[in-house]
Amino acid sequence: MNTPRGTASGRRTPPARGGGAKRGGIPGDVPQNRSGFKMLRIAILLLILLVVALTAWQDGYRSTRWREPLYVAIYPIAADDSPVTRAYLAALDVESFKPIDRFFAREAERYGLNDSEPTKIRLKPELQVHPPQRAEGAGLLSTALWSLRLRYWAWHVSGHSHEPEDIRLFILYHDPALTPTVPHSLGLTKGLIGVVYAFAASQMSATNDVVIAHELLHTLGATDKYNFVDDTPRFPDGYGNPSQSPLYPQMTAELMAGRRALAPQKSQQVENLDEVVIGPATALEIRWPQHAR
Ligand SMILES: [Zn+2]
Repeated sequence: MNTPRGTASGRRTPPARGGGAKRGGIPGDVPQNRSGFKMLRIAILLLILLVVALTAWQDGYRSTRWREPLYVAIYPIAADDSPVTRAYLAALDVESFKPIDRFFAREAERYGLNDSEPTKIRLKPELQVHPPQRAEGAGLLSTALWSLRLRYWAWHVSGHSHEPEDIRLFILYHDPALTPTVPHSLGLTKGLIGVVYAFAASQMSATNDVVIAHELLHTLGATDKYNFVDDTPRFPDGYGNPSQSPLYPQMTAELMAGRRALAPQKSQQVENLDEVVIGPATALEIRWPQHAR
């Protein structure tokens, strides 16, 4: 995706240079036309941005009404050519992601949400293409452009589905022997899209589920609740039960912290969603009722 875009912006350069040459030849005339075109281009760009912003607002409103289940489409992608990854993807079925649906149903019930089935995860066919990647150290503008490209890409690869897809999660599976550490996964509220870096190993399926559930809630507006310096859960919002006595070790982890606090500066990655809860701060962000049982 980077190369064609780079080429396109390269192609835009020569006409500008030509315009510069003309400006010297016919003073006054060309700049007037150019400013007309410029105004038109700005108007079109503003219109596109307005439509994008309105759509994002509408998505956000609809996705957190919780009146009917949210349909979550999971698109598996092999991140490498390893036979291990291939075999893992071949073994995925509708049951593979049921623990995530069960987790959200359990937590929704605890919050007294009327809908007993807040999410309905559906496994989609494997994709042979990879999502556009954000450049390392990307600034505000290039991140915004990348986000638009990702949304276009997601619409393009999945836009012909007849089933409802409220949220789309693209899961890139890696053979842990080839890629022992994966990049940070991400979930975007704009476009309700998540890109999850997961491991193709059955013993890591349960931790993959935690990451998938975490990114799913990012798409609904939930924020991280851990300290970015050392990954420890933030007190009190990142603790499974901030009023537990004694406070340590925490018996559960908050989903948006992803780790169980063992001591003020010590924490442990959770192994599965049974050890995880959704805390009141996250519940507020995704517009769940505020009285957990
Ligand atoms: Zn996060």
